[in-house]
Amino acid sequence: MPNFTLPDSVFVDACKAFDTPFYLYDEQGIRSTARRWQRAFSWCEDFKEYFAVKALPTPAILRILKEEGCGVDCASETELMLAGACGFQGADIMFSANVVPPREFRLARKLEAYINLDDITHIEELKNNGGIPETVCLRYNPGGHFRVGNAIMGDPGDAKFGMTREQLSEAIMILKKHGARRFGIHAFLSSNTTDPHYYPALAELLFETAAELRQESGLELAFVNLSGGVGVPYRPDEEEANVEAIGAGVRKAYEKVFVQNNIPGIAIKTELGRYMTAAHGWLVAHITHEKNIYKRYLGLNASSCDLLRPAMYGAYHHITIVGKESLPHIEKVDVTGSLCENNDKFAVDRMLPRAEVGDILVIHDAGAHCLSMGYNYNGKLRCKEVLLKEDGMFLLIRRAETPADYFSVLDVDPAWKRLQPK
Ligand SMILES: *Cc1c(COP(=O)(O)O)cnc(C)c1O
Repeated sequence: MPNFTLPDSVFVDACKAFDTPFYLYDEQGIRSTARRWQRAFSWCEDFKEYFAVKALPTPAILRILKEEGCGVDCASETELMLAGACGFQGADIMFSANVVPPREFRLARKLEAYINLDDITHIEELKNNGGIPETVCLRYNPGGHFRVGNAIMGDPGDAKFGMTREQLSEAIMILKKHGARRFGIHAFLSSNTTDPHYYPALAELLFETAAELRQESGLELAFVNLSGGVGVPYRPDEEEANVEAIGAGVRKAYEKVFVQNNIPGIAIKTELGRYMTAAHGWLVAHITHEKNIYKRYLGLNASSCDLLRPAMYGAYHHITIVGKESLPHIEKVDVTGSLCENNDKFAVDRMLPRAEVGDILVIHDAGAHCLSMGYNYNGKLRCKEVLLKEDGMFLLIRRAETPADYFSVLDVDPAWKRLQPK
């Protein structure tokens, strides 16, 4: 079984209260993960996690994380608006966007968010769209492969993000000329890794680079932003991230680079998305069809429009059949949605217990980068989201999309309304 799960009875109760498909999120789980992460960095006097909004852009969730002391990391105008509407402002918002439409800088400046510049050309655009703030963050791309020991953990040389080392030096001098007084530095070099060496290695690279830039420019170093990338075990046989070891590893690098060189008061920021919520969300659907041709297929009332990761990256999501987990997993099936696309599958050749139409099927670790990647292909409408509150009650936190939502952007004869099934 996955690390975090809920008793099958909770899924059954949720299905009594709400028609499937829906996402279910566990408030208690999200809060305890947020606390665990912050505890791992409690050695740092000035630490803050900025939850990556794109992972789960639902106000009820953002407000829970806000109560836990988190800020938000935004990458678009709409995400900034969402953050603002949920009560985040100023130093609670990190704007880490790339290929940025100029007006997004204006909104970020209006909210007094931290701005993380992806490219050297953005300095001029920021200057002309809201102006250069006192503190600016720069996104670094060290190029090549990012190695930890012998393992390659990422390929920044192939990534569109960030500036070269030379550009960082140039950018910081330009920013200084334009009146910036403090800087931060950021890099995102590996995604979904539970390896406890990743974050400390990234931290050491950023701490050393930041110390050099501080020396070169004479600007004050405000913070190091370690970005996202800490992963969750999607497969039952994978280990969860040892966040205490990660926190301790970052501390070691911090002491080596900053404390021993008398560089005081550097804040640490993180922008985790996946780690914070992935394991605390489930896509709950019913099996509506069984089909036996050259393979056996279980068809769901959900599709890749609800959860794209398997179709997009071949990502593994664990699947359980409610009430049947203790039965032998003897049946090899593809679990599919209803799109006219053969990659609309949640699992391929998965061994499951004998399942049938009417069973509740649960897709695990769906609390991050799942509903938010949803789309409307084949005219499919995104499903609803339900929160399991700490008191055990269910709360609808996003209604399902309706045909009216779909048609609202179209210039179409209102006759569609008469065609809506009751
Ligand atoms: C997506 C993203 C994150 C969060 O990534 P996770 O893998 O969910 O931790 C953080 N920062 C930036 C800039 C991102 O684009």
